[in-house]
Amino acid sequence: MRVAFLGLGAMGRPMAANLARHHETWVYNRTAAVARAHAAAHGTSVAADLAEVALCGPQVVATCLPTTVEVAAVAEQLLDSLRPGTVWLDHTSGDPQATRELADRCAARDVALLDAPVSGGTDGAAAGTLTVMVGGDGAALGRVSAVLDAVAGRVVHVGPSGAGMAVKAVNNALLATSLRAAAEGLVALRASGVATSTALEVINASSGRSFATERLLPERVVPRTFPRTFSLGLLAKDVGLAAGVVRTAGLQAPVLDLVDELTRAAADSRGGAVDHTELVRMVEDAAGLELGGDEERT
Ligand code: NDP
Repeated sequence: MRVAFLGLGAMGRPMAANLARHHETWVYNRTAAVARAHAAAHGTSVAADLAEVALCGPQVVATCLPTTVEVAAVAEQLLDSLRPGTVWLDHTSGDPQATRELADRCAARDVALLDAPVSGGTDGAAAGTLTVMVGGDGAALGRVSAVLDAVAGRVVHVGPSGAGMAVKAVNNALLATSLRAAAEGLVALRASGVATSTALEVINASSGRSFATERLLPERVVPRTFPRTFSLGLLAKDVGLAAGVVRTAGLQAPVLDLVDELTRAAADSRGGAVDHTELVRMVEDAAGLELGGDEERT
């Protein structure tokens, strides 16, 4: 299939590289040098602007942009020039309601917009093993299964338009909750004289374990590396979207509201560009001690 992939960020670059192994892949990026470097490294073709994206006549458009605001801005320029029958896979972790509205505008042009946010991080993107949670028309999803197979280890059709975005938002709210809560507990254990690696060894063989305790804390926090793969600003955006899902459902979620507030405060204080695991540093700073680092060597 001919695919146009828009947004070569931390996730988009490896996703488009995997697509290019199986499909004719055109790439567009706001900063054009990134697209040119991608073409040189992975054999993709460059669309210099959105007019060229339309001209290459893609059967599938894929976007992986920070928020639905940027996706809607791209649609504003691109939608009228897409061929009827095009399927648009939006891999952005986006806003469910705004995505539904955009899907309606696309449907009026006979373009099927599927929300298809992903989970698995930059490692999963590089390995082509992402989990994709899809919202929207099942028949359109069937037409692009070969495209999703190039980037995904698991594809789940979770419901109508917007449902994929809602599931992704709640997933990431749970990530923020477990990361923050694990940091609070481990800092308390450290203050009580238990080394972080020792505590993690126990927790990861027990019922309190999570992705935060099994992967993020041992791999990024204990060695004090905090590599930038998923920004704290994007995580704060996702937790805010989850709070919106709760409000739309007419429910209350005091824990998620608090995590929303704490994650936004962390992004404001440390800057949105740092890795999301810097959430832990907020907890460390308040306690006046660090997890891992020298304590592991003494
Ligand atoms: P990055 O910040 O690394 O990349 C963002 C991309 O969007 C870049 O290509 C950037 O272009 C482009 N962009 C930004 N603003 C605009 C704009 N106004 N118009 C056009 N293009 C724009 O983000 P990620 O790749 O990390 O994340 C992308 C999406 O995937 C987000 O919704 C995120 O929440 C989600 N996600 C991220 C994961 C991760 O581990 N990083 C994991 C799962 C989901 P330019 O090069 O010009 O800046």
